[in-house]
Amino acid sequence: MIREQEALNRLDHRDPLVFDTRELGRRPGSMKRVSRTISAPADLGVEVIGVPEGATVELEMRLESVMEGVLVTGTATAPLKGECVRCLDPLERELEAEFQEMYSYPDADDRGSDAEEGDEEEVLVLEGDMFDLEPVLRDAVVLALPLQPVCREDCLGLCSECGARLSDDPGHHHETVDIRWAALQGFAASAEDGEKDEPIGGREAPDENQEK
Ligand SMILES: [Zn+2]
Ligand SMILES: [Zn+2]
Repeated sequence: MIREQEALNRLDHRDPLVFDTRELGRRPGSMKRVSRTISAPADLGVEVIGVPEGATVELEMRLESVMEGVLVTGTATAPLKGECVRCLDPLERELEAEFQEMYSYPDADDRGSDAEEGDEEEVLVLEGDMFDLEPVLRDAVVLALPLQPVCREDCLGLCSECGARLSDDPGHHHETVDIRWAALQGFAASAEDGEKDEPIGGREAPDENQEK
């Protein structure tokens, strides 16, 4: 099983996210600090915000040899680019993501053999004394992302009528008819000629092609 796995994903030491632990010599207690600057892999983040591909990511790590493998603790610092969830303006941030992960020696891991399915805990294994930081970095970055990035805390977002940025124009408003009246008008219109671009609360217009 393990041999198969190794053959499938042999790590390449030239990969910037692959680290070599050989220097630790499998001596529990030995420790090594590693700093590395890499360029961000693609898709490091989520839809609204993330680390742009190719951006500089600074990694500060500590590799510690323990009985069952190598414990990796570190921090990744990288620029973030995204957009404000309220006004959709572009925004930039600095991200600091912390991570800690245990990479086991393949021979120390005899649990996984039976528990292929339903094995909640993913065991990361050293391959040829090397490990791939990429999945760990990815998880750490996603966890550290702001959930609702905003350009500024008091961003007022966009006008729901016309899309204007309300922060630029706090007094912004429209001469709208009373909302109930507007609803009635819409109601009348849809009753007349079957228009239904605006669903009106309470009653469901018989839609032709709606999958439900
Ligand atoms: Zn905003
Ligand atoms: Zn408006």
